[in-house]
Amino acid sequence: MNELVTTAQLDGCSREPIHIPGSIQPHGALLVLSEDGLTCLQASANCAEFLGGEFADIVGRTLSDAAPAAAAAIMQALAAAGAVLPSPITLAIGQKRFDVSLHRTAAGVIAEFEAAGPDNAYFHRHLQHALADLKSAPDPKTLYQRALSFVSQLTGFERVMMYRFDVDWHGQVVAEHLSAPVESYDGLHFPATDIPTQARELYSKSWLRLIPSSSYKPVRVEPAANPCTGKPLDMSFVSLRSVSPIHLEYLRNMDVAASMSISLIVEGRLWGLIACHHRTPRVLPFAIRAVCEIFGQVVSFEIGARQEAELLSQFVQAKEIQSQFFDVIAGEQNVLDALVKYTPQLLAFMGAGGAAIHVNQETTLLGETPSAEQVAALVMWLQTQELNPTLATDALSQQYPPASAFHAVGSGLLAVKLSPVEPHYLLWFRPEVIRTVTWAGQPDKPADPNERLNPRKSFAAWQQKVMGQARPWGEAERKGARELRLAINALVLRRTQTLLSENMELERRNTDLNSFAYIAAHDLREPLRGLQNHLVFMREDHSPELSTEALRKLSTMESLVVLSKELIDTLNHYSHIGRIEIAAHDVNVGTLVDDVLLSLAGTIREKGVEVRRPKLLPTLACDTVLTREVFANLITNAVKYNDHEEKWIEIGCVEAPGDPVTFYVRDNGIGIREKHFADIFQMFRRLHAHEAYSGGTGAGLTIAKNIVERHGGRIWVESAFGQGTTFYFQLQPK
Ligand code: ADP
Repeated sequence: MNELVTTAQLDGCSREPIHIPGSIQPHGALLVLSEDGLTCLQASANCAEFLGGEFADIVGRTLSDAAPAAAAAIMQALAAAGAVLPSPITLAIGQKRFDVSLHRTAAGVIAEFEAAGPDNAYFHRHLQHALADLKSAPDPKTLYQRALSFVSQLTGFERVMMYRFDVDWHGQVVAEHLSAPVESYDGLHFPATDIPTQARELYSKSWLRLIPSSSYKPVRVEPAANPCTGKPLDMSFVSLRSVSPIHLEYLRNMDVAASMSISLIVEGRLWGLIACHHRTPRVLPFAIRAVCEIFGQVVSFEIGARQEAELLSQFVQAKEIQSQFFDVIAGEQNVLDALVKYTPQLLAFMGAGGAAIHVNQETTLLGETPSAEQVAALVMWLQTQELNPTLATDALSQQYPPASAFHAVGSGLLAVKLSPVEPHYLLWFRPEVIRTVTWAGQPDKPADPNERLNPRKSFAAWQQKVMGQARPWGEAERKGARELRLAINALVLRRTQTLLSENMELERRNTDLNSFAYIAAHDLREPLRGLQNHLVFMREDHSPELSTEALRKLSTMESLVVLSKELIDTLNHYSHIGRIEIAAHDVNVGTLVDDVLLSLAGTIREKGVEVRRPKLLPTLACDTVLTREVFANLITNAVKYNDHEEKWIEIGCVEAPGDPVTFYVRDNGIGIREKHFADIFQMFRRLHAHEAYSGGTGAGLTIAKNIVERHGGRIWVESAFGQGTTFYFQLQPK
């Protein structure tokens, strides 16, 4: 478009110092004046020709020497102005009138002289109409068309285009107004190299550039070095500045003689240009350019305002879907289950074709997604990327080449990392949208390395099919994803806090119970021992004097004391177990059961119980001492509570994929009625008299339950009264 180079010459061209060309275009004259006294420090070589014979050899003389009235007017303007000089002033020199722009710079005051144009009051009225037209445009395309038609009327350029930059700085003509039979560029794309970086920088500093003729002869500014700075004159803000010869050749190749571009700057970024072409030279007076400049600013503002409104309405829409979604997940126990359950909202929320939830090494796929293996590999790759916390791309395969295998469903990816530490991700996929892009000339045609710095010559439309690209993710969607992440984290945190406080409460109760049991056990043991001693003394010293009745009571008291001591010991043991930290490591449960059976061998033999071991028990992470206690309690019970002739017990396990190992201890004993299934796990709860079945204190199952649950597992019973009982337990969470 402007300042063009080919890809191969980009490097050379982007280094070209276009702000210090040392010369100007010939449709004006330039003077650099000292601020005090207006001595001429530098002048363009066409001064005498352009301003009048008095200006011959002006360098070194004062302006008042050549044109006293003009000098006085400039002095006055400088004295009245602050940092910013009002531009331009209109001056008469001899018979001619000039528009003079003044800039204060380190090199001196730069004065640019151009032939005066008409009074700009007429244009301002015209401008007012145009602005009302812009405001009422129903859509962007109409806005562009109206803006272009105004610029066309105002300037008379034959081809007026709205040129819009993409994020990668390539550009597209998004609207066009032709007022002569010239070639149309509407819809064409131009490579980023057509407007090199430093040209774009100048475009975002000044609002307008005019080249009245692409075949002009540059006019040198003399002397080349500025006496104040000792350097060539910086012409960044000089509108007469001579432009790059490469750019002029580019224009000639396009059959363009006059060219003008108005910058469109939205939120501080160069959004695009209103670019104007004419096949014959065309000078525009300052007044018209000034109106164009203002117009450019208004169009920029209007585009910005519309973009903002569009974004706002997207946010409102996204927020609506979000709040429904959040209501739903807030009511669910498990946030991730909720995410899966509400797939339609999850997909609609992001305008995605598919989604994947990757949590705890497990991936759930929803809608149209790559395969589970492809998603797993993608997640591995994501772990090597800075997510921060989202990653959004509309061309995933450009960053992650394996994605080309699933273009159809996953050309676009929006990934959110849910946890700062764990690799939990939420992924949204967008399908491929194949587009045809028409370039003004083949953009990446291999260049001849020997070719001199040359602009491209062909602007013949060249079509490219763009594959592997999805509809880009909008700002509202990215923001939505970040907010969703925050909401999920907040929910998880809330749940964790609830659990934590419940745990703390339980822990407090448990500590109370343990310390009560401990204190009770200690404090009661002493008086009981005293009581027992007294009973012994009484029997030894007073037996002969006591009646049979009194002796019987004495025996009852003695056995009550023994029982109390047993209960206290049990309580003490229970509280001790409650205080032991679980020390889990790999334990061969088979060997552990061997030990238990060995310690019970006497009783087992005595009661004539057959022991069945149908299956080898596995090795498992658990606490050896405590697990041994569980087996000991269950096996003792199984041996004890049996009055059948042929007694047997069976110790085994059930292993099912995805489930923790379930151990069991089975007997063909007396059985338990179903109504007691829950009671038997309570402390000191016995279903029989203490003496029956050489019973215990009723704490064995309570202790077993405590141990199993502290491992994260559970214990339960199945039984048929009179036929037998099976106790099951797992030592790991499900
Ligand atoms: P205890 O020390 O009395 O055996 P437990 O807590 O071990 O205490 O058991 C509680 C009660 O559950 C026992 O008193 C008994 O009535 C019943 N029970 C436990 N195991 C069995 C079993 N295998 N068969 C029948 N009843 C049982």
